[in-house]
Amino acid sequence: MAKSPHDHASRDAARPPREARHGAGAPPGGQDGPRGGEARVRVTVCGARGSTPSPGPEHLRYGGHTSCVALAHDGELPSLVLDAGTGIRRLTPVFDGHAFTGAIVFGHLHWDHTQGLPFFAAADRPDSQVDVYLPAQGDPVEVLARTMSPPHFPITPEQLRGTWRFHALEPGAHDIAGFRVLAREIPHKGGRTFGYRIEDGPRSIAYLSDHCPTVLGAGPDGLGAYHEAALELARGCDVLFHDAQYTDDELAARADFGHAAAGYAVRLGEEAGARQVLLFHHDPPRTDDAIDALVASYAGARVPVAGASEGLVIDLPSGTGG
Ligand SMILES: [Zn+2]
Ligand SMILES: [Zn+2]
Repeated sequence: MAKSPHDHASRDAARPPREARHGAGAPPGGQDGPRGGEARVRVTVCGARGSTPSPGPEHLRYGGHTSCVALAHDGELPSLVLDAGTGIRRLTPVFDGHAFTGAIVFGHLHWDHTQGLPFFAAADRPDSQVDVYLPAQGDPVEVLARTMSPPHFPITPEQLRGTWRFHALEPGAHDIAGFRVLAREIPHKGGRTFGYRIEDGPRSIAYLSDHCPTVLGAGPDGLGAYHEAALELARGCDVLFHDAQYTDDELAARADFGHAAAGYAVRLGEEAGARQVLLFHHDPPRTDDAIDALVASYAGARVPVAGASEGLVIDLPSGTGG
C-alpha cells in the first residue's frame, strides 16, 4: 500500500535551520554565492553520467559520477535531491558539517541512480532527517533492499544512521520539501520509471533522466513519440534535464537499451517551450570532446542546448534563458 507523500514532508519540516543555511558556501566547482535579496532556486548537478561511473582523463569536464541533481530554495541548503547516483557524494561538502534535512526522490531504481545512497555522508549521520521517495511498486524498503542488503551490500536502507522514512510515490502532484513535484510515468526499460517536474513558485525544472520514447512509437523524426507525459513535464520549464545517452545515429542499434537520443531531448525542449535543454545521462564512453561536439551540433536549435556537467550550478531564474 502506498503511503501518502504528505505524511512527513512539509515545507517547514524539510528546511534546515536558518543558521545552517549560511554555512553552505558554493558547491565544489560551483559559482559564487547568492546575490542579496534575489529569490531563486539553486540547482546543482552532482552527477550527469548514465549507466555506470566513468572516471578518467577524457571525462574530467562533464564528470564520471552517475545521476544526481540537488535543488535548494532561495539561500538555503539543498533539500530536494533527484536520484542518488554516485554523484551524491559531491553534495556532502555543500553541507559544511551540517546534516541533510530533506527528501531524496528516485526516478527509478537502476544502479546508476541508487548506488550513491549509502555514501551520502551528510545524510548518514545520527541527526539527519531524510524522506526517500520511489515509484510505488510494493514496500519501498523491501524494494530498495533488493540491491542494498547483504550479500550485495553490507547494510540495509534501514541501517543508515539518522531518521529515514521511505515512501512509495504515485504519479501526480505532491508537495515535497517545499517544492511542487509532479510525477509522471515515462517509458524506460526494466522497472517503473517516473519523470519529474519540480516547481518552486514560477521557477521549474523537468527531469527525465532515463527515457525511451521509441516504445510509444517512432514519432515524426524516428527518435520517439513526443508524448503527453513528456510534454506536460517539460512545458515552459526553465531547464529540461533529459536523457541524451545516444546520438541520433546511434539510436537505431541501441534503442533496446531503454534510452533516448540527444535529438529527441532537443526537440522535446523545442516542442514544450523549455527555456534551456541540458543533455543528461551521458553514455559512459562519451568523452568530453565528444559531448562538446554533440552540443555544438545543436547550435541552431530553437532552444539553448548545453551538456549537463558535474559541479554545474544554475541559479534560477538568472542562470536560464541565455
Ligand atoms: Zn540511468
Ligand atoms: Zn535506468
